[in-house]
Amino acid sequence: MSATAARPAVLAGYDVEALREEFPVLATRPYGKPLVYFDNAATTQKPRAVLDRLARFYAHEYAAIHRGVHLLSAQATVAYEGAREAARRFLNAARLTEVVFVRGATEGINLVAASFARPRLAPGDEILITALEHHSNIVPWQAVCAERGAKLVVAPIDDRGAVILEEFERRLGPHTKLAAVTHVSNALGTINPVAEMIRLAHAAGVPVLVDGAQAAPRLTVDVQALGCDFYVFSGHKTYGPTGIGVLWGRQELLAEMPPYQTGGGMIRAVTFEETLYDAPPARFEAGTPPVAEAIGLGVALGYLERVGLDAIAAWEDELLALATAAVAEVPGLRILGTAPAKAGVLSFVMAGVHPHDIGTILDHEGVAVRAGHHCAQPVMDRFGVPATVRASFGLYNTPAEVETLVRGLARVRHLFPA
Ligand code: PMP
Repeated sequence: MSATAARPAVLAGYDVEALREEFPVLATRPYGKPLVYFDNAATTQKPRAVLDRLARFYAHEYAAIHRGVHLLSAQATVAYEGAREAARRFLNAARLTEVVFVRGATEGINLVAASFARPRLAPGDEILITALEHHSNIVPWQAVCAERGAKLVVAPIDDRGAVILEEFERRLGPHTKLAAVTHVSNALGTINPVAEMIRLAHAAGVPVLVDGAQAAPRLTVDVQALGCDFYVFSGHKTYGPTGIGVLWGRQELLAEMPPYQTGGGMIRAVTFEETLYDAPPARFEAGTPPVAEAIGLGVALGYLERVGLDAIAAWEDELLALATAAVAEVPGLRILGTAPAKAGVLSFVMAGVHPHDIGTILDHEGVAVRAGHHCAQPVMDRFGVPATVRASFGLYNTPAEVETLVRGLARVRHLFPA
């Protein structure tokens, strides 16, 4: 397929060149070649709006928040709480108090495992996940199940990398205390039918956590429309800073949950005899919060809304369609993950070449991809491979960059004939 093939009408106004101007890192030239950054599922680059806001905050507005009586502290508090409002709006959450700042998706899941699942799990109980999960949405459940004598149950995927819904439904039983499912697979790109999965789980009386780490940067997320009970995502994958993420939880569930960490910032009153904890979200934000990171995240989410999540999704769809068609021409290349609903993630292997060799050769062409198990070893096991190469697209990638990738793969094939 040619990179100049007719575009769907929705993309007519998508000015990728103007967007690229906003990402200074894209001017980098690794090995003297233009950078082609296709590792967006690992982490995304930052637009100038985020970088400038961080610099301005540290240079002119920096202070600790919530307890300061001075002006800088009061202003920093307003900015931090403004970021919470940005996250609320981004997720279309009903209440500001349902938005908890955490370090990232991993910490959000660990918080729910410790404060929601642990007190509810008895021996013989079950937590249901899918075979598509990132390690971050496996290991915390496995650990809490082991601690409580409960069982981790896994709904299988089919050969395309799609969750088999009937199998998911069959595993929702009287002992299931929680289902934890990814919205978008980082390893294969599969978009799970999470609304349907939530409906099935709720019909069985089971609350649902959705791991939105890969969905938040590329799909419109509406937690009220989805009807989930918890939703987590990471700032660094949504074009924002590292060290910040969001756990959204239903008010009535958060209100019942004990703290995850204790210390300053999460209390009403402390004596040596006892401590009264604050209400959510403060109850879950012990210690000095990542103020700058939260403010940067708020700017990143506003940036995504301005570009338009629907436009980003459509653009990534187009890049994925182009790349899928083009790499199919490379002899001995096999795509893993062919589910009907996919986000901009292309995972593949090539006969006779280790994924790390492919990654290294592409790197020398300026193309940054991920080679490995993508923190999803069970997915690799399901497909009988130790690793794949993963090209994952972001809002600033272009059809021309896809062509560079394909030329790089032709070079790999030349060096390692099929
Ligand atoms: N879930 C998925 C689907 C992911 O892709 C990732 C990050 N690769 C995580 C969870 C964990 O996110 P973080 O490392 O930012 O906490």
